[in-house]
Amino acid sequence: MDKATPKADIYKANLDRAVPLLAKLKDEGIGHFIDGKVVPAISGATFETKSPIDGTVLAKVARGNAEDIDRAATAASLAFKSWRDMAPAMRRKLLHRLADAIEANAEDIAVLECIDTGQAYRFMAKAALRAAENFRFFADKCMEARDGQSTPSDEHWNISTRVPIGPVGVITPWNTPFMLSTWKIAPALAAGCTVVHKPAEWSPITAQWLAKLAKEAGIPDGVLNTVHGFGEEAGKALTEHPAIKAIGFVGESSTGSAIMAQGAPTLKRVHFELGGKNPVIVFDDADLERALDAVVFMIYSLNGERCTSSSRLLVQQSIAETFTAKLAARVRALKVGHPLDPATEIGPLIHERHLAKVCSYVDIARQDGAIIAVGGKPFDGPGGGHYVEPTLVTGASQTMRVAQEEVFGPFLTVIPFRDETDAIAIANDVQYGLTGYVWTNDMGRALRVADALEAGMIWLNSENVRHLPTPFGGMKASGIGRDGGDYSFDFYMETKHVSLARGTHKIQRLGV
Ligand code: NAD
Repeated sequence: MDKATPKADIYKANLDRAVPLLAKLKDEGIGHFIDGKVVPAISGATFETKSPIDGTVLAKVARGNAEDIDRAATAASLAFKSWRDMAPAMRRKLLHRLADAIEANAEDIAVLECIDTGQAYRFMAKAALRAAENFRFFADKCMEARDGQSTPSDEHWNISTRVPIGPVGVITPWNTPFMLSTWKIAPALAAGCTVVHKPAEWSPITAQWLAKLAKEAGIPDGVLNTVHGFGEEAGKALTEHPAIKAIGFVGESSTGSAIMAQGAPTLKRVHFELGGKNPVIVFDDADLERALDAVVFMIYSLNGERCTSSSRLLVQQSIAETFTAKLAARVRALKVGHPLDPATEIGPLIHERHLAKVCSYVDIARQDGAIIAVGGKPFDGPGGGHYVEPTLVTGASQTMRVAQEEVFGPFLTVIPFRDETDAIAIANDVQYGLTGYVWTNDMGRALRVADALEAGMIWLNSENVRHLPTPFGGMKASGIGRDGGDYSFDFYMETKHVSLARGTHKIQRLGV
């Protein structure tokens, strides 16, 4: 449908599209995808995945454990050698074919993703296309994945090359599951690694599409495997499996710590993209209209269930009152509704436990002495699911829990600051360091603040705009390692040094 299609027609088309997809899901359930086949859990166990819109059971899902992980890791190990040794041009072709298949199914994937996660269609409509774009980007990088350096010395030619590390585990969260998993899986496959993917238990639906589409695209059996299940069971077993050489993980910081400990006995290489409590700093000389748009977008889009969300607004005291008043009016006007309605800006949160967590921060804010300026209550939305009012907290200070802890919902805490030094101090005074956003028309100040912020990614006068060649990742408790461009290959590949002697250097002669 094009831009001219009325929203009501798109909403109806989405609902109609969902009906047969959901019937099929309910009928077939969701199995693991191992060695090119859909299989039930070896134990026969399943768990239910429920709709955040109305709580109905969407499907029974195979509940994996260590046995299923072993089966998938074995398949990934057996497939590794031929995938590693495949000509890069052929791998490139197959990954482009997978991108084609994703594009052909993009509307179905988008609708299912909305229903499984509660994310609004306006944000998910393009998510599958962006996933396809990830595969295309890394498909084209297949040709350079093995590239290294030439560093000749007096007596030797020294070269380095890269080789894929082996079968890897990818463990992903529930916030934008399809697109996000492709950030990990696309570079891993392009590097020549085989993959065992453990998707989040709260959003298992679209992961099986990816594995099936990979098979349809001609990617050999065993190269991409999916095992469903709970983190402490299937996820833990994946991080402990000796055949799995590295774990690419996206999720909470505390889970990252657990994975590091679990992976220690088998010396796993780890790449972590973890939580955030990201500041957006608005100085009084900024373009305040654009800043306001970005502030609202970066915390209330994607239900605020977004690692890069700017969940702390640091606003200069001189403009704090007027800026916050305009902000409050925008927050009050946000449209909470059914995720398949393209008019919806905020859909239901993923799970009742997550709704309870987000709402608990309203009480915490009040107890600590902050003010709930907007929202703060569950919302009675279509289907009666896990909706919450978009929430704005004012009167907060830096030591309060709502200024320190990741809420991961449509929940923004406003903290005024005096000057540049004060802003930097407040911004850095959290355990996290994923992103920072700075709004000012003083370019010198923008660069000074960018330099001083303890965060992996900084945007100046902009919201988060992802560009695939750039490094994506966090500092401090927000992560280890970087994704994107060539950075991804640093993780999925080993660098190998090869030295060729000219035959002229002196070799010490011992025992002569
Ligand atoms: P989570 O850590 O609870 O779960 C993520 C995944 O880890 C799930 O698949 C889960 O089953 C698995 N898991 C849980 N315990 C495990 C264990 N002991 N061993 C192995 N696997 C285990 O996170 P979540 O609640 O699904 O997602 C929300 C979090 O993800 C937020 O903190 C958010 O900031 C973060 N996130 C970060 C980024 C980023 O790029 N930095 C992106 C998206 C989300």
